Amino acid sequence: MQGMNDLSSSKVSRIAREASLVAKGLVSTKHPILAHIIPMRRCNLACGYCNEYDKVSEPVPVEAVKRRLDRLASFGTTAITISGGEPMLHPQIFEIITHIRSHGMIAGLISNGYYMTRENIEKLNRAGLEYLQISIDNVKPDKTSQKSLKVIDRYLVYLSNYAKFHVNINSVIGGGITNPEDALVVAKRAVELGFGSTLGVIHDGNGQLKPLSGVEEQVYRQLRRFGKKKFGWLNSFQDDLAYGRPHEWRCRAGARYLYICEDGLVHYCSQQRGYPGIPLEDYTREHIDIEFNTEKPCAKYCTIACVQQVAMMDNWRAPQQPFQLPENVVLKGAESDDLSEEVVNARS
Ligand code: SF4
Ligand code: SF4
Repeated sequence: MQGMNDLSSSKVSRIAREASLVAKGLVSTKHPILAHIIPMRRCNLACGYCNEYDKVSEPVPVEAVKRRLDRLASFGTTAITISGGEPMLHPQIFEIITHIRSHGMIAGLISNGYYMTRENIEKLNRAGLEYLQISIDNVKPDKTSQKSLKVIDRYLVYLSNYAKFHVNINSVIGGGITNPEDALVVAKRAVELGFGSTLGVIHDGNGQLKPLSGVEEQVYRQLRRFGKKKFGWLNSFQDDLAYGRPHEWRCRAGARYLYICEDGLVHYCSQQRGYPGIPLEDYTREHIDIEFNTEKPCAKYCTIACVQQVAMMDNWRAPQQPFQLPENVVLKGAESDDLSEEVVNARS
């Protein structure tokens, strides 16, 4: 009973904090709402569609991570999501989460779930983690992905029993995943265990955006019907992705959303690494202001769900100016309306 009380009070406090932070985000456009940080680029897996990991990187020294978090806090950043690679491979991951919370920022983690032992879940509870997202690509592992329900189901049960933080399971279609029907099994299991459930649309092995077809589309339709009853994740953005349609929105990357790579550089997002490429310690409110008002030419076919969610807060205001890149910089997916030019990824 005590455990249930703890769970409810942490949920109530998280929701209350979220509400006040959303209010702060609506009042002012001058601070980032979400920043992704990468303290560990290495991953224990090697998913066929992923361009966000390696097999050799060392963990970023914890003091360097803390300095980055201090800088993000000084901007008034609302929420930090720790990503990778696999961030649970970082030996000081719990200390990093505690540091985020010490600044009053919301602490989230994206993980493949392989390290969610009871002991680690309890450490995450104590560190103050508030959100965990796990993407599951299939039911049984294959050569495209080992992010598989059969492999991590026992860890999901631990999470269901012991986690005080919110857990979201992202099921996936597209991206060369062999059995699209698996997404439905994963979504149902997530709901059964009491987790949140979202859907990621990814694309072929080269990361190219193309409409879902055949069985994928049927599964998408089923998930959509299921989602009407069970979930809150389906929206026009996802419909546009699924059917390969351009999506009208204002990307606020570089301003309301920041991606901080393992080298401490600010990038637009995981798929536009390289620009602006400014060290976080040199990034200023002026940069934030410029990027808030800058139209991103890759927005139409973008699949980065978290940046789209962040942008919803400001879509109604501040129309953007056309994008002016330095001559030697080319953004992926920015050249034409041809779907095949767009590099996509739905991890986030
Ligand atoms: S998708 Fe996640 S689990 Fe798979 S290789 Fe990339 S970082 Fe690792
Ligand atoms: S790919 Fe998407 S999130 Fe990244 S800069 Fe382009 S529009 Fe923004």
